[in-house]
Amino acid sequence: MCGVFGIYPHKEAAKISCLGLYALQHRGEESAGIVTYNGKKPFIHKALGLVSDCFDEKILSSLKGDLAVGHVRYSTTGSTTLKNTQPFYVKSKAGHISIAHNGNLINAFGLHRQLEDKGALFQTTMDSEVIAHLIAHSPKEDYQETIVWALSQLQGAYSLVMMLDKVLIGARDPLGFRPLSLGKLDGAFVLASETCVFDLIGAQYLRDIQPGEIIFIHQDKIDSLRTLIQKNYGFCIFEYIYFARPDSNIFQHNVYQARKKLGEKLAEEFPLNADVVMPVPDSGTCAAIGYSQVLKIPYEMAMIRNHYIGRTFIQPSQVQRDFRVKVKLNPVKPLLENKKVVVVEDSIVRGTTSRARVKTIRQAGAKEVHMRISCPPLVSPCFYGIDFPTKKELIAARHSIDWIRDFIGVDSLKYLSREGMLAAMPVSKENFCTACFSGEYPVELPKKISKFILE
Ligand code: AMP
Repeated sequence: MCGVFGIYPHKEAAKISCLGLYALQHRGEESAGIVTYNGKKPFIHKALGLVSDCFDEKILSSLKGDLAVGHVRYSTTGSTTLKNTQPFYVKSKAGHISIAHNGNLINAFGLHRQLEDKGALFQTTMDSEVIAHLIAHSPKEDYQETIVWALSQLQGAYSLVMMLDKVLIGARDPLGFRPLSLGKLDGAFVLASETCVFDLIGAQYLRDIQPGEIIFIHQDKIDSLRTLIQKNYGFCIFEYIYFARPDSNIFQHNVYQARKKLGEKLAEEFPLNADVVMPVPDSGTCAAIGYSQVLKIPYEMAMIRNHYIGRTFIQPSQVQRDFRVKVKLNPVKPLLENKKVVVVEDSIVRGTTSRARVKTIRQAGAKEVHMRISCPPLVSPCFYGIDFPTKKELIAARHSIDWIRDFIGVDSLKYLSREGMLAAMPVSKENFCTACFSGEYPVELPKKISKFILE
């Protein structure tokens, strides 16, 4: 889970990157970074924390050049240290390289070892550094062939925004797990993980980078190469369910509408005659609207969110997570007292936040609390960039729905079926990765990973 951004050629490249990263803040709150290039040397600023904490006017003015690459990070590989922040930058014989990566490489460990055997010295534990070393070690002379060669070594998920000297590069893995879109602003090209960025900076959306496509953006032209064309793709369905912003179009379709449709399907599969439908804000909001509209039950924002706190799961340690669960949402008691309530949530991962929320709703006076989840039970970890815990920690991998119902403390608990979920999607089902619900991974996992995490 990360957000990537790039722009070239624009005289305010750093400032616009900062705005772009603001719009992508939900994709990672641990660190933010921008690397710019003025044709001679790079300018780098990376820090831990929110975009607003990492940059100010003075820092942005010091990032010179008309080419910029930006990144917001939530670590799926590598620990949270300043050293592991992105974009990764290195000067090599291939040129000045900077890389912002969204996704997860499943063969990073093997590549790391092979490169070390050849003498590569690694500074971080990030996948992105592996990509930089591959570019630096490429046997090819031509820069486009160099990039094609380097990316052809990778397995897994990558949406990349890179700089190689005065070329801005955008690339997606052949299955297209993570989104990446292309836009235009004042004659400059813009790359961003989500289209909401283009709205915010006033850019025009042009198109998505295709799965397996690499684009090379120069001062005055774009070259596009499509290395590997697959019959079907592996778009991450969880981008629609939870991760992307509802005002974005992901894989060319709007997220809000897809999420609302999930709620409508949930209402068709598991209707209930209740007094009120409420979301767990913000993750369950769109689905709750869909659910309430189909059943004609009043929709209420019966919990108010403190907007100054990030997503609870983004805090790595359990202690902080528990604290944040409590301070984040406060119930509106008159909406709940003596009511039969349906709570709509997008998903259950560990179950701990949901349990805490239900307790609060009951304390606020609800007579009955029923929970509806707008996707099927999550039973397998993600190896392509969503930070799900290991199988042991995924509550639905170890327990029955009845057990989870009792643990969370609701009167009833229903999950949307797999068929319902796929029917709600704007993209045909063959093009999704649904491994977190099925355990069927579209890119085969190395044996070591499977043993460690899947058992
Ligand atoms: P819980 O009840 O503790 O499983 O928390 C459920 C909430 O966490 C839902 O809003 C989920 O969408 C959200 N969530 C989504 N992705 C993750 C993740 N990768 N790790 C933890 N929680 C997540």
